[in-house]
Amino acid sequence: PVDRLPEIQEARLKLPVLAEEQVIMEAVRENPCVVICGETGSGKTTQVPQFLYEAGYASGIIGITEPRRVAAVSMSHRVAKEMNLSTRVVSYQIRYEGNVTDDTKIKFMTDGVLLKEIQKDFLLQRYSVIIIDEAHERSVYTDILIGLLSRIVPLRNKKGIPMKLLVMSATLRVEDFTDNQKLFRTPPPVIKVDARQFPVTVHFNKRTPLEDFTGEAFQKTCKIHRMLPPGGILVFLTGQAEVHSLCRRLRKAFPFRKGADEETDTSETTRKFKKAKQKKPSLPRIDLDNYSALPVDEGDEDREAGIGDEEDEASDLDIGDDPSNAEVKADPSIPLYVLPLYSLLAPEQQAKVFRPPPPGTRLCVVATNVAETSLTIPGIKYVVDCGRVKKRFYDRVTGVSSFKITWTSQASANQRAGRAGRTEPGHCYRLYSSAVFGDFSLFSEAEITRRPVEDLVLQMKDLNIDKVVNFPFPTSPSAEALVAAEQLLVSLGALKEPPQTGRIKELKRAKLSCPITPLGRAMASFPVAPRYAKMLALGKQQDCLQYVIALVAAMTVREIFEDLDRPAGTEDESSKLTQRRARLTQMRRLWAGQGASLLLGDLMVMLGAVGACEFAGCTPKFCEDNGLRYKAMVEIRRLRGQLTNAVNAVCPEVAVFVDPKMTPPTEHQVVCLRQIVLTGLGDHLARRVQVEDVLDPKWKNGYKTALMDDPVFIHPTSALFKTLPEFVVYQEIMETAKMYMRGVSAVEAE
Ligand code: ADP
Ligand code: MG
Repeated sequence: PVDRLPEIQEARLKLPVLAEEQVIMEAVRENPCVVICGETGSGKTTQVPQFLYEAGYASGIIGITEPRRVAAVSMSHRVAKEMNLSTRVVSYQIRYEGNVTDDTKIKFMTDGVLLKEIQKDFLLQRYSVIIIDEAHERSVYTDILIGLLSRIVPLRNKKGIPMKLLVMSATLRVEDFTDNQKLFRTPPPVIKVDARQFPVTVHFNKRTPLEDFTGEAFQKTCKIHRMLPPGGILVFLTGQAEVHSLCRRLRKAFPFRKGADEETDTSETTRKFKKAKQKKPSLPRIDLDNYSALPVDEGDEDREAGIGDEEDEASDLDIGDDPSNAEVKADPSIPLYVLPLYSLLAPEQQAKVFRPPPPGTRLCVVATNVAETSLTIPGIKYVVDCGRVKKRFYDRVTGVSSFKITWTSQASANQRAGRAGRTEPGHCYRLYSSAVFGDFSLFSEAEITRRPVEDLVLQMKDLNIDKVVNFPFPTSPSAEALVAAEQLLVSLGALKEPPQTGRIKELKRAKLSCPITPLGRAMASFPVAPRYAKMLALGKQQDCLQYVIALVAAMTVREIFEDLDRPAGTEDESSKLTQRRARLTQMRRLWAGQGASLLLGDLMVMLGAVGACEFAGCTPKFCEDNGLRYKAMVEIRRLRGQLTNAVNAVCPEVAVFVDPKMTPPTEHQVVCLRQIVLTGLGDHLARRVQVEDVLDPKWKNGYKTALMDDPVFIHPTSALFKTLPEFVVYQEIMETAKMYMRGVSAVEAE
């Protein structure tokens, strides 16, 4: 029996999903798989696990997967609180951290975590129920999990250890799961939760600002706040940097003195005020225990961050003496309580959005996509929607990736608008015209169709799914993408091409069913991309392993340097940026080493940076002083630990450990490291275009790759920019101003 507090019970009764408890539990009893659709905020995530618990499904663990870390952590806390149970019983597990115990009965986790568990125990015997949440987001792991579970559930039932599968979606568009004979022979029942959604009036802009939509969002929010009756405002932007910049502008326009009414420790607040007055640059405060690293694909909208990486408490208080204030006169008469919300925000900061704003203020949450369906913020009456999302795009042929801000889909825009009508009728202000909306695609595409799949293919082969083409994907990746993945894995030695018979049809089939090799199994146990996994698998030679681990961690985390090329708001800031750029350039030169090390290029710089930072104790100050992103460095530290464990598990005799005082590699080791890097990045080879071949000026200093017609370049900040070696391998190509190779290392011509 669950002993809930009266106020919790009262709040629960208002949730639409409560009305469907009987229907849902009956469907679950009678069917192995059930689909539940209900508007965001109807109570699916917080209540359905409780229904199952109370109906006696906690003989094993009730597992719930979330595509976003934010949701896994925050929902586990919420459900524990609602049920009046300890976090030993209602727990979470995300990539590097969790609070799961032997007593855990309800476990929230990211979808990647469950996939890893399936690798250890295909039948998931510790679980009695799996709930796949936010299935409408169509994240890659969610799709794969549904495919796998469509097989696991019948197997479990056949074995007499029954298991239930629930798929939950915020939209009614679930045909990819239900009308899919390959997936479920008998279509699972779909239960619709009718949410009491209040009408939302949608206002389109007459024109569509193409450039400065953050500025437009600022104007609109100011107008709403000045002219319209009380009610929270939720602004949708595309990334962390914009979120912070808008938060800052709004706080300056409508200052709200922190600590005045808030239930924070006032002495702490006064201290902060004093600190702010002294105008010393303050360092971000990050609680290591609350730090969480990214699963492979999550939080892309935060990836390019750099500006205001951490919320700088002091500068938020620093009202009034900044020249950039001039644009809007600060109006302290109507305080606005402004909060940011995005995937990488620390949990205690995230939790603020659920609390009522201080009396006499209006709540304004500036968010990325997280607020679209994962988290429901109470009391929102106005939504301001920029209509865009930031996504990582991959070129299917070349693998070139780039971040692009694109229009969202109509379905997403409507989800965003819906956030305004949760508690009373609301308004949604779209910063684009109705004509532009008409051109949006109806739905967002499943992620699996938009990215390379070599990591997924390797994971599946490790699960002994040899014919990945036959896998019951809710939406299948293209045959082209699957062939490319198998070919890459064959070239890395992870798969073996079966003997060829010569007949074209069979050849084609064989290409898509290569069995996994022992090397492939070892690679699959490392939680990094197959190219890097290969490096780890070969890292044993010449005592190079600790370097390979550090390097792979740095390459996986990406963006280890701060973006110092960002536009500066003030002259003061601008001169500081110039100084810091100079310092970073100097440090890069130092980290690049000398002699043989130089040829390892950008990878040596990364290794040097990781080594130096760790030597200095990985402090925020060291990072700030040397142009490194503190968050990235902490993530690298964690990943190094995790990779070290993984390598020791596969190969105990190497007994590698994380050495905080890692000395730079010897010349001999550098040679060895370059070979190891080449084995992983062999298909990322580029050759400098010979001077006599440069007919077209666009090829000057360009490199030719195997797959592209156009040249690629070494970036001016690269350690090899001046050397321009004849052959290089690169980590990835990013399209920014030009096609630039990143993570470049020189290869000896033979
Ligand atoms: P759904 O999964 O259907 O979108 P949820 O179960 O996430 O719905 O949310 C149900 C309700 O619980 C919402 O009104 C939401 O605001 C509230 N809620 C969720 N998390 C918290 C929290 N940490 N604190 C207070 N209220 C919360
Ligand atoms: Mg939910």
